[in-house]
Amino acid sequence: MSLDEFGLIERIAARTRARADIALGIGDDAALLQLPPGQQLVVTADTLNAGVHFPPETLPADIGWKALAVNLSDLAAMGAQPAWCTLALSLPEADPDWIEAFADGFFALADAHGIALIGGDTTRGPLSISITAMGWVPAGQALRRDAARVGDDVWVSGHPGEAAAALQLWQQGGLDVRAAAVDGDLERLRQRLQRPAPRLQLGLALRGLAHAAADVSDGLLADLGHIASRSGVEAVVKGEAVPLSSALRRAFGAAAALDCALRGGDDYELCFTAAPEQRLALEAVASRLALPLTRIGVIVAGQGVRCEGDANGARASGYRHFTG
Ligand code: ADP
Ligand code: MG
Repeated sequence: MSLDEFGLIERIAARTRARADIALGIGDDAALLQLPPGQQLVVTADTLNAGVHFPPETLPADIGWKALAVNLSDLAAMGAQPAWCTLALSLPEADPDWIEAFADGFFALADAHGIALIGGDTTRGPLSISITAMGWVPAGQALRRDAARVGDDVWVSGHPGEAAAALQLWQQGGLDVRAAAVDGDLERLRQRLQRPAPRLQLGLALRGLAHAAADVSDGLLADLGHIASRSGVEAVVKGEAVPLSSALRRAFGAAAALDCALRGGDDYELCFTAAPEQRLALEAVASRLALPLTRIGVIVAGQGVRCEGDANGARASGYRHFTG
């Protein structure tokens, strides 16, 4: 069975519910939203294109999850409370099974974080998913990239590099992205690529504690480099301090694992800076959220980003479109 555009929209709209902050949701020319008083609106957009941002054979449920996850990660990096999103879908065909599976992944994550789908667009074309996510933050409390200060510690959440490792294994033919791996470590890496967990609770907890923050989508050094350049400071990372998971080390060995952690993308961990006085408070956040937070470097006067003890020196570049 095939559906027209409106049949597809109906399938998606059936998964949404009424909410007090949505005066008008899917079905009109545009949505009407109620921002709580005293809050600033936080808006971000990210697109996933088949074959560029995910392997072509990726399961539709994983595509739905990840398309939203990368946007939620941007809200997390701003310290925002997620609220609403729109979904622009370009689909090669109107396959109801595909759309239901996509919605399963999308709404599993959306419902877990209380973000409501309030509109979108549905067109025919190459597979592409474009989401605009909106949230709010008390005025003046957003975590910005331009707020790092000399003397700050540099922190990272979780274990960066695992998603990039899974992608490399897939490129080498050593990982099926569609099926659970029998090996527990491999499955952990696969999950990190296919089902990234946006660090929203961490972003909220960092309000008032962190100075600057960014999510690690392009690679740890690249994204920390954005913080450094926006803040007019230099970031120095100590290579031996970067947390490497045992799954990552087992798959690649220590040196290649560090390269994945520093330059791999798609992790969606948070990298942030904070004054040394906040160390105890940040350790308390880590244990409350059961999420490792690791001090990996410092902010000094200067510019750029540098990693001590890394064989590849200053090569910071993460993934870039339109180059190479
Ligand atoms: P218009 O032609 O006025 O832009 P559409 O026919 O594109 O309206 O969409 C009808 C309604 O369905 C709108 O409220 C729109 O926001 C919503 N919508 C369309 N596609 C999607 C989608 N993929 N996800 C959620 N809502 C959608
Ligand atoms: Mg439209």
